[in-house]
Amino acid sequence: NNMQQTDILIIGAGPSGAVAAGLLRKQGRQVLILEQQYFPRFSIGESLLPQSMAYLEEAGFLQDVVEAGFQYKNGAAFAKGDARTAFDFREKFSPGWGTTYQVQRADFDKVLADAAAKAGAEIRYGHAVLAVDVSGAKPCVTARDPEGREYQVQANFLLDASGFGRVLPRLLDLETPSDFPVRGALFTHIEDRIAPQEIDRNKILISVHPQQQDVWFWTIPFSNGRCSQGVVATPEYLARYQGTEVERLRAIIGETPSLLQVLRHAQWDTPGRSISGYAANVKSLWGQGFALLGNAGEFLDPVFSSGVTIAVKSASLAAQCLAQAADGQTVDWQKQYAEPLQAGVNTFRSFVQGWYEGGFQDIIFHEQHNPEIRRMIASILAGYAWDANNPYVAEPQRRLRVLQELCAPKPLAALAEAEAV
Ligand code: FAD
Repeated sequence: NNMQQTDILIIGAGPSGAVAAGLLRKQGRQVLILEQQYFPRFSIGESLLPQSMAYLEEAGFLQDVVEAGFQYKNGAAFAKGDARTAFDFREKFSPGWGTTYQVQRADFDKVLADAAAKAGAEIRYGHAVLAVDVSGAKPCVTARDPEGREYQVQANFLLDASGFGRVLPRLLDLETPSDFPVRGALFTHIEDRIAPQEIDRNKILISVHPQQQDVWFWTIPFSNGRCSQGVVATPEYLARYQGTEVERLRAIIGETPSLLQVLRHAQWDTPGRSISGYAANVKSLWGQGFALLGNAGEFLDPVFSSGVTIAVKSASLAAQCLAQAADGQTVDWQKQYAEPLQAGVNTFRSFVQGWYEGGFQDIIFHEQHNPEIRRMIASILAGYAWDANNPYVAEPQRRLRVLQELCAPKPLAALAEAEAV
């Protein structure tokens, strides 16, 4: 019998897997990560939120992240037609970190995985998980090593941190469709040559297509004079454009004068990539002997850069549950893991819906803001979607509806009437 044993088995060494490993090593647990790729490897999701810093810190990874020299980030800037607005995360309602980083994920994910290994986690690169059996007393996975040999590992607990690989949702038939319409993205890295006064490199720039409010672009400056540049739209919209990914991306940028202006000196030196239908959901975030972390669970939408933050938050919640189980106490994974995680995901969901329906765009571009409300919005944009003291976390839908009505552009007739009064 070549069945190997471990305490905690993690599938995937991305941010959710690495942070979970760091936290579990702090508890003195034995951790084995199986990662099918070799790091550094490309991944999308380059703009972090300040809320994620708390979990990087908790895992003991902060020094490694700070010393890696990533681009400092303190906010988000938005452009639509002639309108501009920017939120500084340090001017936020919730306590906690107000700054973070914009990261090349190939480097960032390697920094985290190396930190997990330094903390004592065993990471096997080039080992893919092929099958899983959770019917017994302990979960058991079948993996394939780089030589093509298959072997099995039995664990006390299994964490699926496989991201878009969605290993357990696929193998255990846990997948359910997302309630968001399908969207796709085209993206690349560029030598941006943007003049210093043209954008604030300490902020992500989100530009909205002037005619299509549901088509938007990210511009994420890095610390080395390069940017991540991407566009998000429906598959039908993206299908209108012919050529390579970069040619199609540039054609859509060509319809958006403000962004075209910013990127006019850019060198398009890297092949583009595309991804589509990334929004995903699951029937359950846990089961007997296992839990789903990060993107292996639910993924909403990239517009608020919430993916990595949700991933590392999920790692923190799962590690707390596993600590309690190790103490011999029973854990209610629904109440202590799934529900607390979903509370913040649901906050983001309301904001994502508001973004695509346009009401949230009216809110952020509205000129007269109550400063307290702006701080509450800045808090959400900074990732503090779990802080129930923020009214926009406690009641996101109702609060957003009220604010949208106040900020909606007034029809001309109503304006004329208001002026006549
Ligand atoms: P991942 O980072 O995907 O890591 C999963 C790991 O598991 C991978 O290394 C993979 O190789 C490994 N794996 C998969 N299958 C197997 C297997 N069978 N066996 C072994 N290993 C396996 N998030 C942000 O925070 N900011 C952004 O600006 C942002 N922009 C985005 C833009 C787009 C277009 C999209 C689609 C997403 C964006 N995201 C963003 C989301 C972000 O990409 C993810 O939320 C984040 O990477 C999730 O981390 P994770 O650890 O769950 O999974």
